[in-house]
Amino acid sequence: MAAEDASDLRRALEHNEIVPYFQPLVELRTGLLRGFEVLARWRHPLRGVVSPDEFIPLAERTGLNGLLTGSLLRTVFINARDIPAHLTLSVNISLTQLTDLTLPKHIRAAAEHAGFPLSRLVLEITESSLLGNTEQAIRIAQELKEQGSRLALDDFGTGYSSLRHLQSLPLDELKIDATFVRSMNHTRESRKIAAAIVGLGNSLGLLTVAEGVETQAIADMLLWLGCDLGQGWLYGRPVPPEELPAVLAIRMRASPPSTMAPDTRATADPRFTADPTMPMRLEALPTQRLAQLHAIYDGVPVGLCFLDLNLRYVSVNKRLAEIHQLPVAAHLGRSFAEVLPGQALLWEPYLHCALNGEASTDLEICYPDPSRLGRTRTYLINFQPARDEVDEVIGISVSVVDITRRKQIEQALSESEDHYRHTVELNPEVPWTAAPNGMILDVSNRWEKLTGLSKSDSLGDGWLKVLHTDDLEPTLNAWSASLRTGAPLDIKYRIRWRNGDWHWMRARAAVRRGEDGTILRWYGTVEDIDDHHKAEEALRRSEARLQAIFNAVPIGIVIAEAPDGRVIMSNPRAETILRTTVAPPTVIDDYCRDSHAYDPDAPPDKPEEHPLATAIMSGRTIGPKEYLRYYIDGSSSWISLSAAPVFDPDGKVSGGVVAIQDIDEDKRKMERLSELNSVLRIKLTKP
Ligand code: C2E
Ligand code: CA
Ligand code: CA
Repeated sequence: MAAEDASDLRRALEHNEIVPYFQPLVELRTGLLRGFEVLARWRHPLRGVVSPDEFIPLAERTGLNGLLTGSLLRTVFINARDIPAHLTLSVNISLTQLTDLTLPKHIRAAAEHAGFPLSRLVLEITESSLLGNTEQAIRIAQELKEQGSRLALDDFGTGYSSLRHLQSLPLDELKIDATFVRSMNHTRESRKIAAAIVGLGNSLGLLTVAEGVETQAIADMLLWLGCDLGQGWLYGRPVPPEELPAVLAIRMRASPPSTMAPDTRATADPRFTADPTMPMRLEALPTQRLAQLHAIYDGVPVGLCFLDLNLRYVSVNKRLAEIHQLPVAAHLGRSFAEVLPGQALLWEPYLHCALNGEASTDLEICYPDPSRLGRTRTYLINFQPARDEVDEVIGISVSVVDITRRKQIEQALSESEDHYRHTVELNPEVPWTAAPNGMILDVSNRWEKLTGLSKSDSLGDGWLKVLHTDDLEPTLNAWSASLRTGAPLDIKYRIRWRNGDWHWMRARAAVRRGEDGTILRWYGTVEDIDDHHKAEEALRRSEARLQAIFNAVPIGIVIAEAPDGRVIMSNPRAETILRTTVAPPTVIDDYCRDSHAYDPDAPPDKPEEHPLATAIMSGRTIGPKEYLRYYIDGSSSWISLSAAPVFDPDGKVSGGVVAIQDIDEDKRKMERLSELNSVLRIKLTKP
């Protein structure tokens, strides 16, 4: 094929059949367009578009590649006028061209002719192109660089003596060969090689470019590795100059990568010097990053360590060493079973999980508290599989968080919750809440236990179903009055219990108001007061019976309280005899005093000698004593008083009871009798 092909190619060059195609170079972190690689195409009149793999080697063999590059660059520089100035253009330089000492001069002339700044030009040199006359190639490369262009090492990783080129050439970029990139997500070796090249490029301060990025998964992986730019079908195939405006229109709108959030702590990277609008780099320099990480590692209030695949401590932070009460050095290089022999069994399943790449649940564990003897502290241990850049488990990252305080709070909370539940259960009161319109919103479970009416049936006005019909109206009246005014509710009504019995209940409620004073909610309780209610009724009944007896007896009775003798009860007979009302709070001593003041036998003004006071103070029964009582109208009458103390169940005097009898008639009869007797005696003794 050679001869006719060579003349065909020469003809093609004369007719400008070799045209540049442009393939986008995109920043992985932001999705922003950074430039294009120029890829040659032969628009053959008969064969259609011919691949460079077919005609580049031919051009090299026939010495036409200088011409080819020259014609291509002229077109490119003209097309570049339609490409924004911050975008770079990468052009491939072949093996033989690097032996042509006039190459830099030709490139410069073409650029100057088109007014294209050489700083926008990136020259891609393949490793194999350096194979032959290395020294001359290096000289040419240096000259190209001195003219202001950037140099990229293409197809890195496919040739040999690559590392030497890294050292001898003034490189700016490293292009990872597509063969590693394309197979990254299914070949471990490719991932490792890609990771190593990115690491190498980063550590030498070179921009790393991945070729052959076909999927987002690979783009994400490359971004994670720290690769800078991507090129490949994911971002666009090489397009002819006519299609450039369309590509620019789409690509100039940044589309961030799928998984990674933009980093905010980035610093400027000197490698993006061509354009001040270039975005920030993901990380600082590796050494700074490492120092930062170390400081964070030791400073966090969480115990951290890293175990390798043999479960040996590779690193331990200060906090964890403190928790273990062992120096950091006592951990390193030793297996965790040696360091913490007591916990080997406990940790085993968790470590196993992590080694298999599974996240496990957290382990809770207690260690002795170093600051308080005899006490323990509780820690939560988390085991995370640690993976390398290419997602393989290389060890276990363990974090140990002190949760003692949280535990204590939890415990206290659960205790008080228990306590609360207990109190509520034992409490005879059934709490409930109601809306401002009186509809019940919630009621304690006890309600259902008592009434058999389920909670859902009781809400709203459902509870009225178990209310006694006789109590319905007064209850609703009281409730609606409270709802209207916001005044506290306190009512009694009967409720049918689940066994059919009626129980007297007492309902009380108060409002909670909002800041503007509106009623937000009613909080209330219902309490079974049936026993209380019955007892009260019984009491009322026996009180009435007692009162009836009091009223019927022909003796005056006055009952008074200790210690001051305040009257709490008296019967009509007492009032008849004393000719005064003995209504509370008359103090009985007052009218006792009235009577004794005229008693010739009693010494005046000695209240302790009044029968009631004496009975209360001494606890003894006093009397009966006889008094002549004078009345306001000047009349007088004999009465007899006897007083007895009343004891409470504890044996203490709680009051006294006074029995009053009208003995005036008897007394006067007796006087008459004794008068008669003495008259008789006188008469009898007189001769
Ligand atoms: P290269 O420099 O490694 O160019 C990248 C090649 O990968 C291009 O092939 C490009 O079309 C292709 N490619 C880009 N993205 C993807 C992708 O996602 N998947 C796959 N499978 N391939 C992708 P192309 O254009 O056929 O170029 C082949 C080679 O021809 C280039 O490899 C370069 O070495 C050479 N070449 C192209 N143009 C020129 C030129 O003007 N001068 C010289 N000296 N060599 C050239
Ligand atoms: Ca290339
Ligand atoms: Ca390449």
